[in-house]
Amino acid sequence: MEFYSLYLHIPFCRKRCSYCDFNTYAGQEDWIPRYVDALCREIDRVAQSAGETLPVRTVFFGGGTPSLLTAGQFEKILTHLAGNFSLQPNFEMSLEANPGTVTLDSLRALYDLGFNRISFGMQTANPEELILLQRLHGTEDVISAVGWARQAGFDNLNLDLIFGLPGQTLESWQKTLEQALSLKPEHLSLYALTVEMGTLMHRWVNRGLVANPDDDLAADMYEWAGKRLDEGGFSQYEISNWAHRDENGSIRSCRHNLQYWRNQPYLGFGAGAHGYCRGYRTANVNGIAAFVKHCQESTLPPESRFPIGPATDQATPVDEPTAMQETMMVGLRLTEEGVSQQAFSERFGRTLEDVFEKEIRRLIGLGLLEWAPPDQDRLRLTQHGRLLGNQVFMEFVG
Ligand code: SF4
Repeated sequence: MEFYSLYLHIPFCRKRCSYCDFNTYAGQEDWIPRYVDALCREIDRVAQSAGETLPVRTVFFGGGTPSLLTAGQFEKILTHLAGNFSLQPNFEMSLEANPGTVTLDSLRALYDLGFNRISFGMQTANPEELILLQRLHGTEDVISAVGWARQAGFDNLNLDLIFGLPGQTLESWQKTLEQALSLKPEHLSLYALTVEMGTLMHRWVNRGLVANPDDDLAADMYEWAGKRLDEGGFSQYEISNWAHRDENGSIRSCRHNLQYWRNQPYLGFGAGAHGYCRGYRTANVNGIAAFVKHCQESTLPPESRFPIGPATDQATPVDEPTAMQETMMVGLRLTEEGVSQQAFSERFGRTLEDVFEKEIRRLIGLGLLEWAPPDQDRLRLTQHGRLLGNQVFMEFVG
């Protein structure tokens, strides 16, 4: 049976962070009730056009700041999800939350609704760096939020951190990571800052108001973090993601993101959300007002159009050669698992070597890829290859 994942985009933020280029909007909270209604409508229309009740293993509310929605608004959305999809036993339901926007009561309400994984955007523990990032929260908010989440019942908690910030020293990064570890998260996501066009950070860097991030120093930070996390009982399973090993040595990876990295199907709901399903990559209209309008007004006949929904802006067919390339690009991000020969053959009816013989031979020769022991069934990055991931991924394209 083919399982699905669902991504729901909540594009509201109290304030725009200086580095953010996500599809999110500050000062638009008045739209939230209409947006929630539109989201429910989109869920109904898309799910009912599928021709079957799709089995769902993971649901992820991302943003933006999903924690700006009330429990009542989440309940409404979840009712539509449960009414339209077959939510599998033990399905994972994650929420991204800004530490400054939660309370013990709000977290209790979310847990009671069925959320079983929470991800806080901690980013850094250094107050000056938080100001540089224009984050609304302080480290004390993170400490409170994690404590409340534990009291509410969450036993699967992630912290997002950013390194390679302008002016950040290795020592400052080390303190941030130690602070994060002291909060005993089950999962950590560490992202290198990229200064994206159109962001406030980009303007500051261009005008020389802040230094350009130092790539070599960022690489040192990444390397140090990998060693420190290994000592601290974490296993890296993706280029930017680590999970804590339990007493049996198993880890709680983010199952929702595994669906992306294994190139398996997901549906995206909400403004600007992307999906991948039945041979199409889809993208919704970006703006909040446009999304609401499309969901209210569209008269598209839903029966024949799945996965195209009322707010779909683009639907790009993915042919088999492209699907194979994409499977390599995303699968090689999984540093332990890599791309499974068996799964690839079952899906495409051809072996990895049949399709990518030249690329694999060359990258193994360069020491960037390896067949993973003990059964040599999985192709993955070497330690050295992890530092040059993008270069490796590009070898499989075109
Ligand atoms: S809270 Fe997150 S989504 Fe919102 S502006 Fe900041 S980085 Fe972007």
